[in-house]
Amino acid sequence: MNSIQKLARFFSDFPGIGPRQSKRFVYFLLTRDNNYLNELIALIEGLKKDIVLCSRCFRYYPRNSSTSFVCPTCVDPNKDKSKLLVIARDVDFEHIEKTAVYNGYYFILGGLIPILEKEPEKKARLYELKKRLEADAVDELIIAMNANPDGENTEEIIREHVRSTAERKNIKISTLGRGLSTGVELEYSDSETLKHALSGRRVI
Ligand SMILES: [Zn+2]
Repeated sequence: MNSIQKLARFFSDFPGIGPRQSKRFVYFLLTRDNNYLNELIALIEGLKKDIVLCSRCFRYYPRNSSTSFVCPTCVDPNKDKSKLLVIARDVDFEHIEKTAVYNGYYFILGGLIPILEKEPEKKARLYELKKRLEADAVDELIIAMNANPDGENTEEIIREHVRSTAERKNIKISTLGRGLSTGVELEYSDSETLKHALSGRRVI
């Protein structure tokens, strides 16, 4: 296997990237000068040092000077502590923050759970979510998943997983309201639609 094929194999592991696109990436890199490539190499090398995982919401964030592993959002005193919004991925966080319609805390599940998945807890942070609900004083858990089969399946599994805790602690569980059309991923829904879906959320 030559260098083009080897590198293309890495790119083909990226989300949404097929073999043909991954080859195009490699040929693109071949046309760049050394400065460009060195900057890219340095960024990749530093990524895991500069960006860390928040121990509360499990979001990746740029490490600050402090030694704590809690992101600025989780220690923001202006956030409404009584609300916790669970989302699948980091990109959903950025998207929802931009709408400025939600002012509570977040929890990143780390992925969606495909239908018929035998070990859902390996695909998503279900135990960690339950632990968070056990430890914190939360009044409402908002589940914001994609409006597609994997998103709906994930929502159902979350509900089952946290049911006993929610009942015991009297935590309301809600999901995004209508407006998100079927099949749409949160990441690709426009801000206005997402705002309506959030403000029109329904308790389940
Ligand atoms: Zn956090």
